Amino acid sequence: MPRTRLAPSPTGALHLGNARTFLINWALARQRGWEVLLRIEDLDSPRIKAGADLGAIADLAWLGLDWDEGPVYQTAELAPCRQAIECLSRAGLLYPCACTRREIEQAQSAPHEVPGQELRYPGTCRPEKAAPLPRHVFTPDPSADGGAAPAIRIRVPDEPVVVHDQVRGVQRINVQATVGDFIIATRAGLPAYQLAVVVDDARQGMTDVVRGDDLLGSTARQLWLYRYLGVAAPPRWWHLPLLLGPDGRRLAKRHGDSRLARYREMGVPVERIVGLLAHWSGVTARREPMSVGDFAARFDIGRLPGEAVTFTPEDESWLVADHQDSLNRAKTAGV
Ligand code: GLU
Repeated sequence: MPRTRLAPSPTGALHLGNARTFLINWALARQRGWEVLLRIEDLDSPRIKAGADLGAIADLAWLGLDWDEGPVYQTAELAPCRQAIECLSRAGLLYPCACTRREIEQAQSAPHEVPGQELRYPGTCRPEKAAPLPRHVFTPDPSADGGAAPAIRIRVPDEPVVVHDQVRGVQRINVQATVGDFIIATRAGLPAYQLAVVVDDARQGMTDVVRGDDLLGSTARQLWLYRYLGVAAPPRWWHLPLLLGPDGRRLAKRHGDSRLARYREMGVPVERIVGLLAHWSGVTARREPMSVGDFAARFDIGRLPGEAVTFTPEDESWLVADHQDSLNRAKTAGV
């Protein structure tokens, strides 16, 4: 049975950009008969926010999305990731690295000009000869203070991998040239995002992965892991164009508060949210309220705009149109 997952990271509240990706993922699943698993990606420990998992689940339910299984939490079952690390280690692909971000920054051959973009790791700690790691390196001692443990990186060849994407077509990406040998286990001894996603997608039988196209570079890294771990059939990928703020940058807090929870608390009907997402997804020529059922019936992946969409002040006004008065009243009353 084909399967997909809704995979929120509980690092903050879901905003309109996340909502659009999840809605399209869900609609594709319902149109094509894929099973849906809700997976909470709670491994990104320093960035995890308490309660954000429940917030994401409430937001998805408010939107009207449903799932056949879950929520399952990534941290609930780490043994498969540890086995995968052992397998990569036996193949001589891993090595410890104690470089700090600052050291990696200083080792860049060119000044780093794109804020937010990942740094390329120049291979400072990469040993000449590949060898399995000593066991204690990837089974950290829980009684240790954790501060001094190295991260573990994987060596990747300097050649492109080809990502066959259902939306973006064929993409050739050279991981070594863009990010270099990447992290497989963090200094806290936890599996890194790239590894956990591959291990979980494989063992949970994912056939279709739908996500923002800011993760295309991650997909290339994940393809190497599929190869090295001997997973016969990676999933099909569907990378969706992002939602941008009016300044052309990826929608984020700096563009104002576009959290679903805010609209819900304001009393904005969910049909307006879905209607705006539908308008951004090539379903309607003009903004009009819509139910998720209608969205699933009318959405056509072939008509999804190929370019990123911009969240404009007019969109925001349309969303909150009927609520502005009550908002102003609430403000005056000091609520
Ligand atoms: N948890 C990731 C996110 O919220 C998505 C990861 C994925 O789809 O593979 O951005």
